[in-house]
Amino acid sequence: MATYVPVIGLEIHAELDTKTKMFCDCKNDPDEEHPNINVCPICLAHPGAMPTANKKAIESVIKVGMALQGDIPAVSKFDRKNYFYPDLPKAYQISQYDQPLVFGGVLKGVRLRRVHLEEDTGALTHENSKLQALNSKSDSSLVNFNRAGVPLMELVTEPDIRNADDAVAFAKELQLILRYLSVSYADMDRGQMRVEANVSLGKIHDGELVFGTKVEVKNINSFRAVHDAIEYELQRQRMVLEEGGEVKHETRGWNESSRETVSQRTKEEAHDYRYFPEPDLPPLDLSRFPLNDIKLSIPELPAQKRIRFAKEFDLSEPQADLLVSDPRLASHFEDSVSELMSEDNQNLAQEIKLLFNYLTSDLRGLMIENGIKFEELKITPENFADLVELISHNTVSSRSAKDILRSMMQTGADPHTVLKEQDLHQISDEEALLDVVRRVIETNVSAVSDFKNGKENALQFLVGKAMAELKGKGNPEVLQRMIRERT
Ligand code: ADP
Ligand code: ZN
Ligand code: MG
Repeated sequence: MATYVPVIGLEIHAELDTKTKMFCDCKNDPDEEHPNINVCPICLAHPGAMPTANKKAIESVIKVGMALQGDIPAVSKFDRKNYFYPDLPKAYQISQYDQPLVFGGVLKGVRLRRVHLEEDTGALTHENSKLQALNSKSDSSLVNFNRAGVPLMELVTEPDIRNADDAVAFAKELQLILRYLSVSYADMDRGQMRVEANVSLGKIHDGELVFGTKVEVKNINSFRAVHDAIEYELQRQRMVLEEGGEVKHETRGWNESSRETVSQRTKEEAHDYRYFPEPDLPPLDLSRFPLNDIKLSIPELPAQKRIRFAKEFDLSEPQADLLVSDPRLASHFEDSVSELMSEDNQNLAQEIKLLFNYLTSDLRGLMIENGIKFEELKITPENFADLVELISHNTVSSRSAKDILRSMMQTGADPHTVLKEQDLHQISDEEALLDVVRRVIETNVSAVSDFKNGKENALQFLVGKAMAELKGKGNPEVLQRMIRERT
């Protein structure tokens, strides 16, 4: 039996976060729900309308290229890619053919072929349920041109990927980099990032990899679908070949409900698109762009940040990974740690761990529960670090800390103020606790005898009872010791 080598190359589109569209002044607003409102003669392709290129979009793609170690050529240009589809008012797309903005580059060991800039299409609505909601006949389709002409970046890799997991890891890392660069939010659920996978099975011949016929899989709308579509397609091609058949060069679509790829059309060649230089836009002299400033605006990228975080803050790999997975989470962490460092500090290492836990579980949990995003968060790094200090110095119990955190999130107050106002000081003084401890021991006879018989759980139960009486303000360690001594 022949051994096949999976060969995978990705084409990834991302909508760029610009104020306006690629070739007109219409608003680029993915949140606009009213159809066909952000449109004008240019993006609707009225006769005689002239495009002008969006500088910010060009700079964004250059930034991506630089971050991924690609080459920025001296000149670039736009080309027309001709095809008809109802979501494409001009019947051609302005794209880039042989002179893209970026050549080469590398990410996660995968070589990049190019990154270019084009315009997005409109959006069609075919689904019956949606059409009915819009009071439209269910055998018709609707088109919304708000998205038509939105700047779209396309990144094309070499076929260097060898399995579905690596393809997903590549796409996730690219998404994160686009977010770090603030060029695109790249949300796959919202179609802001779209992945097409080229999949084939190669063979080793005299030590050399010989490529097989590739299939392009479109309509992949989630990272899970990237994985499953590639796996499915590899499996399908293996079966075709093992039965002595040939893989057809075609475009297939991933069907999310049947979880299989289905043939869409035989693959078109470049000449089918009759590419030619866009006559309404001059070639781009890239030396006239602020290349140095763009380079300087590139922040520390996730890969470097993970390594630095792990080293500097003594975090495990998964911990560093979690923080870096969201640029705002990473900066909130780092800013809070610097606040910790500026205080007097003996147990800094321990406090950093505490901060990590409160940030990634308690605070994030509260934010998710209340639908609050980082940009809306009222808790400053300084106040957050202060709270960690209060916990670390045993000024508040971890129970009260949660209450304080909740108040901080609602009002933006600093934890010392909340502590005072709500009288949440932790009680560690034995004398102040003694009454409660005595009462708990007297009234919970069976738990006390369980504990005497060696049931450690019973101790927790008794501490819990005392805590309840103290409204969560007792120091659990002190309570535990006192109960132990008295039973
Ligand atoms: P096409 O002309 O069909 O668009 P390209 O050569 O432009 O093909 O490549 C498009 C994408 O397909 C790239 O991401 C490339 O890495 C990938 N690719 C090329 N050849 C193969 C192959 N044999 N197997 C898998 N992917 C491939
Ligand atoms: Zn417009
Ligand atoms: Mg291609």
